[in-house]
Amino acid sequence: MNIVIMGVQGSGKGTQAKKLAELKGWKHINIGQLFRAEMSGGTATGKEAKQYVTNGELVPDELTFRIFANAAPFNSSNLILDGFPRSVAQSKYLLEHYQIDKIIVLDLSEAEAVKRISARRNCSKCGRDYNTLYKKPQKEGICDVCGGELVTREDDKPKEVQRRIDIYMEQARKLLDFFEGKVKIVSIDASQGIDEIFSLLVKEVDSLQ
Ligand code: AMP
Repeated sequence: MNIVIMGVQGSGKGTQAKKLAELKGWKHINIGQLFRAEMSGGTATGKEAKQYVTNGELVPDELTFRIFANAAPFNSSNLILDGFPRSVAQSKYLLEHYQIDKIIVLDLSEAEAVKRISARRNCSKCGRDYNTLYKKPQKEGICDVCGGELVTREDDKPKEVQRRIDIYMEQARKLLDFFEGKVKIVSIDASQGIDEIFSLLVKEVDSLQ
């Protein structure tokens, strides 16, 4: 079983994908996180990806496929895909090499997405994510787990946020057109709280099993 979770930045797709992976014991593949790990590790891949990630642009497919296939070998299953695919070429690649059972879209308005993204913080040491509105750390500005300093990602800064949302909206329309009739697509209202969204998400996944 393989699931793709889609949703505009701020829809909670990363949080939901991670919770689902923990519940089911499946592998959560967050491609943005994989790029950031390569970047903070200073690897050659990280160096190549850096200019795109810090500008909020999609990393070229060739590099993205390399990092994706490394995390999820062809035909593997029990994957929860978060942030991949983001282009029609990536979608074709995905259907060629993996079975995809369902696409779950977390639906959120642009205005709510901007509000949520502006509140996001990440630990500068371990990468854990927080949100000053919905997922506050116990101590302001400090990671609950490792004590690292919480920072705003370059691409979560206001000038990048609207651009990333515009990119997502345009890409999402193209992806959903491409997948229509090929893979089952369902939507969940992501303006709800984390627990409400999660229970709907689990229902959608369980309905496949
Ligand atoms: P995210 O953490 O999902 O917001 O992704 C952060 C950044 O990683 C994006 O702005 C892109 O630069 C890059 N990225 C994430 N997913 C992809 C993808 N499927 N294809 C190309 N670049 C991606």
